[in-house]
Amino acid sequence: MYYSPRFKQLLGFRPNEFEDTTDYLMSWIHPDDSKSVGHAFRAHFEQGQSFDVESRIATKLGEYRWFRVRGQSVSDEHGKAVRMAGSMTDITDRQIAAAELFSEKERAQVTLASIADGVITTDPDGWVEFLNPVAEALTGWKMSAAKGLPLQAICRLTEEASRQPAPNPIETVLREERTVEVAATMLLVRNDGVELPIVHSGAPIRGSDGKINGVVLILHDVSNERQYAAKLSYQATHDSLTGLINRAEFENRMNLAFTSAAQLGRHHAVMYLDLDQFKVINDTCGHAAGDQLIRQVSSLLQRRLREGDTLSRLGGDEFGVLLENCPPDHALRIAEELRQTTRDLHFVSEGRSFAVSVSIGLVSVDDGLYTLSDVLSAADAACYMAKDKGRNRVQLYRREDSEVSLRHGEMGWVVRIQKALEEDRFVLYAQDIVGVDGKSHLGTHCELLVRMLDEDGELVPPMAFIPAAERYGLMPSIDRWVLRNAFATMERLFAQPGGNSLELCSINLSGATLGDDAFLDYVGEQFERFSLAKDRVCFEITETAAIANLDRATRFIEEMKKFGCRFSLDDFGSGMSSFGYLKHLPVDFLKIDGGFVKDMADDPIDRAMVEAINSVGHVMGKQTIAEFVGSAEVMDALREVGVDFAQGYWVHKPEVFAPRLTQVAASAS
Ligand code: GH3
Ligand code: MG
Repeated sequence: MYYSPRFKQLLGFRPNEFEDTTDYLMSWIHPDDSKSVGHAFRAHFEQGQSFDVESRIATKLGEYRWFRVRGQSVSDEHGKAVRMAGSMTDITDRQIAAAELFSEKERAQVTLASIADGVITTDPDGWVEFLNPVAEALTGWKMSAAKGLPLQAICRLTEEASRQPAPNPIETVLREERTVEVAATMLLVRNDGVELPIVHSGAPIRGSDGKINGVVLILHDVSNERQYAAKLSYQATHDSLTGLINRAEFENRMNLAFTSAAQLGRHHAVMYLDLDQFKVINDTCGHAAGDQLIRQVSSLLQRRLREGDTLSRLGGDEFGVLLENCPPDHALRIAEELRQTTRDLHFVSEGRSFAVSVSIGLVSVDDGLYTLSDVLSAADAACYMAKDKGRNRVQLYRREDSEVSLRHGEMGWVVRIQKALEEDRFVLYAQDIVGVDGKSHLGTHCELLVRMLDEDGELVPPMAFIPAAERYGLMPSIDRWVLRNAFATMERLFAQPGGNSLELCSINLSGATLGDDAFLDYVGEQFERFSLAKDRVCFEITETAAIANLDRATRFIEEMKKFGCRFSLDDFGSGMSSFGYLKHLPVDFLKIDGGFVKDMADDPIDRAMVEAINSVGHVMGKQTIAEFVGSAEVMDALREVGVDFAQGYWVHKPEVFAPRLTQVAASAS
C-alpha cells in the first residue's frame, strides 16, 4: 500500500504519521457509507465496473469529511486484478452546497405550495413545467397532466368587458423579455367553462448567464375581493332592516332621474311616506315589534309598485318612492293605493291587533322643481301637511300651498303662538257635559277648550294652531297657560254665590306636557297659589298620548290622585286602542271617540263599538262619556246603550268660560 503525502494531508496527517495499511482506511469510512463502498469494490473487481464512490471518511481529528474516491485496477493475463491505483478528492464543500441547494429548493417548493396565488412556470419555449396547488385548483389541471402543454391548452384569459381573448402573458414575456403586469381584471376561462376573475403577472426566469430559461406566471383570484367590495357597496346603499335602498342611494337615483326630466321634459313623481303614530307600537310592543311592522310595510309597498319604481327606507318610519315617467294623475292614484294598502294591513303583535296608517306627501316633478333638495323638502312639507290634516291621507304638493304655509304656516305659527302667549291672547271656552239619564244638569261638569285670538282680536280655531304648537313643542306652554287661567277662574267662581254648582272641570293635557317632568311641580305650585277644591279638577289626556308616555302618564295620574284630582281618557277607541292599557291607567272616565258616536243612531257597527267600549269601561269601574252628540236620536241611542254622560253641540255649544266673571274682573281692574 502506498498513500501519497497529499492523501495523508487530506485526512489531517503529517506524511510520516500514517501507516500504510488497508484496514485503517476501511475502518475510517462512515458506517452509513461502508456498505455502498464495499459494494462498489465488489462490482469493480468482480464485474469490471469503474470504481467511483462518494463517502464520508474520518480524519485524524475524528471529523467526517466527504470524499470522492476513484480507482483503476490492473489485471494479469487471467483477468484477475492485481493492483489498484486511485485518487481521493475532498468534496465536503460541494456536498454542503448541494444540501443547502436542496433545502433552498424545498423551501421554495413549500412556499409555492402554500401561497394563496396560483403559480405556473414554463420552460424557455413556453411549455408548462410546474403548477402550484392553487394554480391546479384555479385551472382545474393536475401538474402531472399539464406538464409539457402550452398555457392555452389548460386555460384561456379573456378581457372581461369585451370578452376578447387577452394576450398570452407567457408569449409576451418570452417575446419582449420583460416582466408583464396586468392591472385590469381578466377572466380566467377554464376548459370546463368556469370563469374566474383574476389579475395576473408574468416574469422571465433568468439563468446565471442572464439568459431566459423559463417564465413564471402568477394568477391572483379576485372573486373574494369582488364579493367583499360588492357587499360593502351593498351595505353602503341599502338599509339593513328592510333590504330596501337607503336615503343616500335614493337621492342618487333621484338625481339621475331629474337629469333626464330636465333634458326630456318627462314627468316624475316623488313621495314621502311616514307611518302614523308609529311610536305607539314601539312603546307598547317593543322595538322588535316596531321593526317587524317596518318590514311588513316595506314588503307590502314593494308589492304594490311597478318593476321600475324605486322604494327606499329613508330612516325610522319614513319611506320614499320615486315613480319615473309617471304623470301626476297616475301618481296620485298610486299614492292613494299605497295609503289604502297600508290601511288594510292589520298588524298583530302578542295577540293584539293594531290599525296601521300612513301619511303621504306627493310631488310631481315637471314644473321647475328640479333640484334634489327642492323636491325633497316639498315632499316633506306635503307629508307634514297630510299629518296636520288628520293623517292617513295623501297630500299633493302645490307651490301655492308652500308659499301660503311659509307665510301663515308652521314657522309663522311658532312666532304667532309665542307672541299670543306673551300678550295673553288666549281665551278659555267651556262645553258642558250632562248625564244621559238626566241626573246631572248643565253647569255641573264641563270641559275647558282653549282658543287663540289673532292680532286683530279674531278667534283662531284650535285645528289651525294646535298641530303647529304640537310639532314645535309649544303645547307645554299653552297647557300651563290653560291650567293657570282655569285655576284662577275656578277660584273666583267658587268664591261667588252659586259658583259652587260646578262640580267638575276638565282640563286637556297634551302628550308633550305629560312627558314633561317639570309639569308635576308646576301643577303643585298652582294648587298652592289658588285655593280651590282639588277634587273638582279633572285632567283629560288622549289615549295615544297616554300610551306613548305610559310610565310618565301613570306616575302623573298617581301623583295627582293624591290631591283628589280625577282623570278622563280622551278619544278612546280611536287609533291603536286596546283595552289592555286600561288596566294600567287608573282613570275615572272614558270618553268614547266621537267618530263612533256621531252616527251611532244610524250605523249599527258604530253603535256596537259604543256598546263594547261602554260595557268594558263599566266592568273596569269607569264612567263613560260620549262626545260629538249632535242630535236627540244619538242621545236616545246613548240612553239605550247605558252610556253615563253626553257632550256635543246638541247638548251644549262651547261658550266663554264663566263670562260674567271675566267681565266683573275686567271692570274691577
Ligand atoms: P307621526 O304620526 O307624527 O308620524 O307619529 P309617529 O309616532 O310615527 O312619530 P315619528 O314618525 O316622528 O317617529 C318615528 C319613530 O320611529 C321615532 C323612533 O322612536 C322610531 N324609530 C326610528 N327608527 C326605528 C327603527 O329602526 N325601529 C323601530 N322599531 N323604531 C324606530
Ligand atoms: Mg311616523
